Amino acid sequence: MKIDFNKNSDGLVPAIIQDFITRQVLMLGYMNKEAYEKTVASGKVTFFSRSKQRLWTKGEESGNFLNLVSIKNDCDNDTLLIKVKPEGPTCHKGTDTCWDETNKQYFGFLSELENVIKSRRVNADSKNSYVASLFEKGINKIAQKVGEEAVEIVIEAKDDNDDLFLNEGADLLFHYLILLQAKGFTLKDIVKILEGRH
Ligand code: AMP
Ligand code: ZN
Ligand code: ZN
Ligand code: ZN
Repeated sequence: MKIDFNKNSDGLVPAIIQDFITRQVLMLGYMNKEAYEKTVASGKVTFFSRSKQRLWTKGEESGNFLNLVSIKNDCDNDTLLIKVKPEGPTCHKGTDTCWDETNKQYFGFLSELENVIKSRRVNADSKNSYVASLFEKGINKIAQKVGEEAVEIVIEAKDDNDDLFLNEGADLLFHYLILLQAKGFTLKDIVKILEGRH
């Protein structure tokens, strides 16, 4: 990889550190050529510390290492994007990221949908909300809906109407999110199990 270490007179390039699963930005550090090479050789992210004026392997005292997953150059080779598996909180102040954030998994629109479903359960009027009315009917009714949608998927899988097949999938997923919520769980609990099997 051709990294432009000479763009800055100090021979340093910024390295953005990102959690490879959650995509959360964890911290920013600087690397010179030696730091980069040590990172690649050891698999532990190593910076050039501007305050210590020496190579600094993140985690060398705390044990909160950043295990290397991948390194990418930006468009003009002067900034690195480094994906990692963090072993613990990344900030020396004890927070997951250096911007005082928790490093939680985000499932994009599905997470937003989970939030909407939760808010319907907590405070919606069942006369105006389908989701609230399902919660009112209870777990057995919700589970039955999931079963119905699953059967509809089986039926549509045999046809070759892609649109119907995909829409039944959306129905199933939507009702399954409601069932999870009704049982006090979230998508994260399922993902944790899948990760554990991986
Ligand atoms: P560590 O590398 O985690 O063993 O921490 C050793 C020292 O490096 C800490 O006491 C801080 O001075 C510094 N340090 C650790 N993590 C960070 C960070 N995310 N940003 C800036 N400085 C850090
Ligand atoms: Zn650049
Ligand atoms: Zn910090
Ligand atoms: Zn359906």
